[in-house]
Amino acid sequence: HERSFIMVKPDGVQRGIVGEIIKRFEQRGFKLVALKMVTPTRVLLEQHYDEHQGKKFFEPLLQYIGSGPVVAMVWEGLNVVSVGRKMLGATDPAKSEPGTIRGDFAIVTGRNIAHGSDSDKSAKREIDLWFRADELA
Ligand code: ATP
Repeated sequence: HERSFIMVKPDGVQRGIVGEIIKRFEQRGFKLVALKMVTPTRVLLEQHYDEHQGKKFFEPLLQYIGSGPVVAMVWEGLNVVSVGRKMLGATDPAKSEPGTIRGDFAIVTGRNIAHGSDSDKSAKREIDLWFRADELA
């Protein structure tokens, strides 16, 4: 079964949108495989956002995601990677359609509420990074 790594970022946690995001994935029919609340270390975030090293938003991004607890989750189901991305909406909330998570709850890219893996390959990489094998159902 296909799996995706979905993370509620610190702004989503602080604003109390965790339940709403979980509800949407459950309603869509996806299965929750793992969930934990954690304040990510710098080392973990450098690995997670490795593709963005060197970009000008890299430091602010690490400050933002490391600023408080996040809710890290693994969801499973048919096409969960691509459907999950659609449910999240465009990276820039100004371009996210209403009805998507970002389109309903966010306005700027620098505070866009949640993350979702962008491919099957990144999903596997991110799940390995954030979870131990014995944490996955
Ligand atoms: P995510 O990985 O969080 O799901 P994404 O895959 O839609 O986002 P990426 O291009 O991988 O988008 O960017 C990762 C994250 O980096 C974005 O979600 C956003 O928080 C931040 N980011 C990306 N571009 C910018 C930017 N130009 N300015 C500020 N932050 C940015």
